[in-house]
Amino acid sequence: MQKQGTIIKVSGPLVVAKGMEGAKMYEVVRVSDKKLIGEIIGINGDEVSVQVYEETSGVGPGEPVYSTGETMQVELAPGLLESIYDGIQRPLKDLEKAAGAYITRGIDVPGLDYDKKWDFKSVKNAGESVMSGDTLGEVQETSLIKHKIMTPPGVAGKIKEIKNGNFNITETIAVITDADGKDHNISMLQKWSIRKPRPIKTKFIPNEPLISGTRILDTMFPIAKGGAGCIPGPFGAGKTVTQQTLAKYCDAQIIVYIGCGERGNEMTDVLAEFPELEDPNTGEKLMKRTVMIANTSNMPVAAREASIYTGVTIAEYYRDMGYNVALMADSTSRWAEALREMSGRLEEMPGEEGYPAYLGSRTAEFYERSGMVKCLGSEERQGSLTLIGAVSPPGGDLSEPVTQNTLRVTKVFWGLDAKLAYRRHFPAINWLTSYTLYQDNIKDYWANEIAEDFESLRAESMGILQEEAKLEEIVRLVGMEALSPKERLILETAKSLREDFLFQNAFDDEDAFTPLKKQYWMLKSIMNVYHTAFKVVDQEDFNFDELLALPVMQKVVGCKNIKANDEAEANYKNLWEETEKAIMSLRKI
Ligand code: ADP
Repeated sequence: MQKQGTIIKVSGPLVVAKGMEGAKMYEVVRVSDKKLIGEIIGINGDEVSVQVYEETSGVGPGEPVYSTGETMQVELAPGLLESIYDGIQRPLKDLEKAAGAYITRGIDVPGLDYDKKWDFKSVKNAGESVMSGDTLGEVQETSLIKHKIMTPPGVAGKIKEIKNGNFNITETIAVITDADGKDHNISMLQKWSIRKPRPIKTKFIPNEPLISGTRILDTMFPIAKGGAGCIPGPFGAGKTVTQQTLAKYCDAQIIVYIGCGERGNEMTDVLAEFPELEDPNTGEKLMKRTVMIANTSNMPVAAREASIYTGVTIAEYYRDMGYNVALMADSTSRWAEALREMSGRLEEMPGEEGYPAYLGSRTAEFYERSGMVKCLGSEERQGSLTLIGAVSPPGGDLSEPVTQNTLRVTKVFWGLDAKLAYRRHFPAINWLTSYTLYQDNIKDYWANEIAEDFESLRAESMGILQEEAKLEEIVRLVGMEALSPKERLILETAKSLREDFLFQNAFDDEDAFTPLKKQYWMLKSIMNVYHTAFKVVDQEDFNFDELLALPVMQKVVGCKNIKANDEAEANYKNLWEETEKAIMSLRKI
């Protein structure tokens, strides 16, 4: 590290230094003798603007800036899982050990344990040829996850030597001779620039749903594995609960959770709770498949800006191994605010509401890193990266720039609604405004894996919910009596859909997760009442109270209580039969 420039201006997280000839965009520098970590985000002649990831109080003009010649990188190797990092991949635990609870500045702690030995098992032999991305061997990283050690991007050739046994992440485990006869020593550690997407072979159209066990998400507004979705919602509407439910139950194999807390203690809750959570499928601790990145509000804003990229790069790395990865960012508004603050200090021309004009392109760049991909290498490996970002628009106003720019690039919109949250209808996702553009892609999966009529039941039930909104207007104006029996039936069915199907308590162990098959059975139980009753309600003197008083109706209301075990399908079928018989018995002629 050599001294290069001299500080001429400090403005919060922005430092301007002169005498920096030869500096490159996004190069990492160390600022002042405190060695604060910063990144060059603007160059003008020999003057550079540096975004500093630590508190700059006490730093002033005349102090030195040291260049490092490296870009902002993450370290990728076994040991990432179960880690909790700050926005620039410093493990919080080690930071605390090195500096106490109040993190002092300029501390260097590596992102990964350099001493720990991992049991490396090769899957290739000396003499074999490999391409970038090909698996050289494996390490059991946690009890849930096998970590593939891949040939790094940019390296290909013949394996000269490959080892087996216990190694730390910097020791050589293989030597590859490239076409020019040059030897490359390969260790388990790869470094990658956070702002550069990791290479892939091709992207596919995502065609498999990411199953979260939350009924309104999976059945009404499904997201595909490799898709991009956003959850905008005002304060207290349930963004964090939804993101955490997804992190806990969704069927991705790896979870990267980025928390940009609004208040310091909100993130603290997540940090205290998450390591305790158990994976409902395996009974193991969820952290064994999770990487967490935490920005509390007392960390400098610039670190938030980097945290999104740090997270997505780690996620891509696991995708490259062929895993289904899901990344949750809560909330991206805090990230956008960090962009706005830096842009303001750089005195750039502000765009809408003071956000920089490039907010849209930055947002797009982030979400475009999602996808279902064919991974690099000669092996036919597929992986996916699903990106789900929460947005917290001030006052719940969805027309603000961060929400609008996010909606432009994401294909799923789960709109949280303060009114529903106030009525304690959870998840407070508005079924009238939310949408998904993945329905068409995943309909074959539904038809093959769940049931032929799932898609049509979904469409029909959505229609009923929309119809309800219209009919409610009429009822408000002229009363229930004005409705025809069929319209009354629509209202009753919509009520049942809302209360018995969409309502779901994330804090109830039984209710929090519903397998997709069971979601279909439940939906069919409710719609079966509708279809059967439709045949009888038109009769003269039909008595609705008689229908609602049928004992079987209680069973339909409680259809979520039928356990999703081996007999579930038969039990639901019995319920449907019973329902049909009971309702048809009301027929007078
Ligand atoms: P936000 O992140 O949007 O500010 P939270 O996710 O913290 O909001 O949710 C606020 C509160 O709403 C939670 O503390 C919880 O009581 C309730 N809540 C939200 N979603 C659910 C849910 N799916 N099931 C039960 N309660 C919920």
